[in-house]
Amino acid sequence: MSRLDVAIETVRRASLLARRVRAERVDGQALAKQDRSPVTVADFAVQALVSLDLGEHLPGDPILGEEASAQLRDADNRELRDHVVAAVERFRPGAGTEAVLAAIDRCSAPAGASGSFWTLDPVDGTKGFLRGGQYAIALALIEDGRVVLAALGCPELLLDPERPEAGTGCLLAARRGGGSRCFDLDGNDLGPISVTPTTDPAHAVFCESVEAAHSAHDLHARIAARLGVTAPPVRMDSQCKYAALARGEGSIYLRLPRTESYQEKIWDHAAGGLVIEEAGGRVTDARGRDLDFSAGRTLSNNYGIVASNGRFHDLLIAAVTAELDAEPA
Ligand code: AMP
Ligand code: MG
Repeated sequence: MSRLDVAIETVRRASLLARRVRAERVDGQALAKQDRSPVTVADFAVQALVSLDLGEHLPGDPILGEEASAQLRDADNRELRDHVVAAVERFRPGAGTEAVLAAIDRCSAPAGASGSFWTLDPVDGTKGFLRGGQYAIALALIEDGRVVLAALGCPELLLDPERPEAGTGCLLAARRGGGSRCFDLDGNDLGPISVTPTTDPAHAVFCESVEAAHSAHDLHARIAARLGVTAPPVRMDSQCKYAALARGEGSIYLRLPRTESYQEKIWDHAAGGLVIEEAGGRVTDARGRDLDFSAGRTLSNNYGIVASNGRFHDLLIAAVTAELDAEPA
């Protein structure tokens, strides 16, 4: 199996795990992290499963995941820990508590400009996961500061937007230079995907977060108006926004920061970004700069995210720049 095949199979299993945890609505699901963001049974269990599966097939590969086990080791969180272990053991029978906690903690590789490591967001869009919205399992390989492989599991995204009866659950995968493809959650390859051919931004549909705290909806609306966009924004949680654009649902994704100081995390954009680029689209920051994955755990050399089908990206950046420049300091 190639590294990409391993990543696809790993994310496929993790997507099934996450979907099952949500369907069962396990009690005591959410804890608050230090930054007050929520973390659930699924976040911990997916990180453990991905760590164990990747570790089995690619034992030397370092992983940087969003979560750590410290809170799970706390006696007060025993019930949550037991749910996490039970969820992992459905996919790795007999794994045991210590191995699960150790697997979570193994995902602490250093990030930086040289060498290669996987970056993992076990449940991207945890707020969406808890709310019944979209969420994603995002795994990407970064080599010398460049994203080269991506597997993005979207358990609740329609498999085929034109045929809702086909149900939900898809996985998008990309290799740099090799295109993006769509799979179902049984592992069947459904073929290559591509962005919309729309060349006139006025005809574009744009996506943004559901959570108003994660990006500046008001600013997005002014950018869209400047481009003549008339369709209302499509609000969606997680990197499913990247997945939707890569499949040709919508042509613009805006993520302008609400505060000057927020730095985007690499695991929130690595997989989704490559999936879009390899589907023919473009991803930059709000100033039109390429995303720089070589600077550590965050995109500290970038400001916001702007993705598109690539057909009018420069025009889009010009509109973003004009609106940013018009903002009161
Ligand atoms: P979304 O579902 O697109 O709204 O994005 C979810 C991601 O937003 C999470 O994985 C967080 O890492 C990230 N996030 C948390 N706080 C912020 C913030 N203030 N600005 C931008 N992104 C954030
Ligand atoms: Mg995330």
